[in-house]
Amino acid sequence: MEQTTPEASTARVTPGPADPTDDLVLPFAIEGMSVRGRLARLGPVISEILGRHAYPAPVARLLAETLLLAAMLGTALKLEGRFTVQTSSDGPVDLLVADMTKEGGLRGYAHFDADKVAALGAEMPTLEELTGKGSMALTIDQGPGRNSYQGVVPLEGDSIAACGEDYFRRSEQLPTLIKLVVAETLERDTDGAAGGGWRAGGIMIQQMPEDGGFVRDLDPGDAPDGSTGHHDEAEDENWSRAKILMQTVEDHELVDPALSAEQLLYRLYHEDGVRAFAPHPLSFSCRCSREYIKGILQGFGEDDMSDMLTEEGRIEVRCEFCNRTFEFDPEDVRAS
Ligand SMILES: [Zn+2]
Repeated sequence: MEQTTPEASTARVTPGPADPTDDLVLPFAIEGMSVRGRLARLGPVISEILGRHAYPAPVARLLAETLLLAAMLGTALKLEGRFTVQTSSDGPVDLLVADMTKEGGLRGYAHFDADKVAALGAEMPTLEELTGKGSMALTIDQGPGRNSYQGVVPLEGDSIAACGEDYFRRSEQLPTLIKLVVAETLERDTDGAAGGGWRAGGIMIQQMPEDGGFVRDLDPGDAPDGSTGHHDEAEDENWSRAKILMQTVEDHELVDPALSAEQLLYRLYHEDGVRAFAPHPLSFSCRCSREYIKGILQGFGEDDMSDMLTEEGRIEVRCEFCNRTFEFDPEDVRAS
């Protein structure tokens, strides 16, 4: 799997005036440390995705973390198709899906048992309480006729971020640190009515191997037998320092709309010469359409179609990602 080559027009991060920017992933490198990273800031895009569903807060938070992970890892790949992070497990939240296109189009949804989630109580439940046991799959779909790549890790540890770190430890032997933060905001529209919004922010750093790969390959089968990563050696001093500095990031800093991604990077790593690359913009996009869904319906047999009829004799299909409902006359579906 080819990695993206950061744009040539890079700039040293300077404190600069506040230039808050949202809905992007900012790649960065710390010069002389052999450390690369990504900083993700999701504002309107995360409110848009979560706002299409009335998820209980713990489910919304978990999905937002999954979307952050997909955005940070997906923008590091040379994608032709899409990158998907999907969990599958036996707990109250049995499915989380987040996917991103090469253009930065992000979407996601969660499947859960509302009663079981409510029974967990008002406190933020743990990852295991929410998802139970299962796995997380990271998939690169290159489009028709091209290879897809998948890596799978157990859904364990205390967070979605820990699962992402686990993926790199197992498959690529790349020491990785990931932090994901989600915050619910109360926004007021021009009439003063309160409406819920969300913000999400994430940062990851990775110690580079000699060949400098970043998310080199999602296929865990490619690592040569007996290959050793840096984790086998005495921990590199630079890597230790990069980790300690990253651990000083406060949750609120990752979601503060008044603090730009560049300002945050500057605060963390300016003494070490942090360099930012061209940001990847993110937006909400769902590829569902009437034609697409009609095509799927046309692949169904007559019995399946009859099972789907509403009392009015119509077929209704809801897109899980964007929550839009498409209604069809069964005659129209059969006719074309
Ligand atoms: Zn849709």
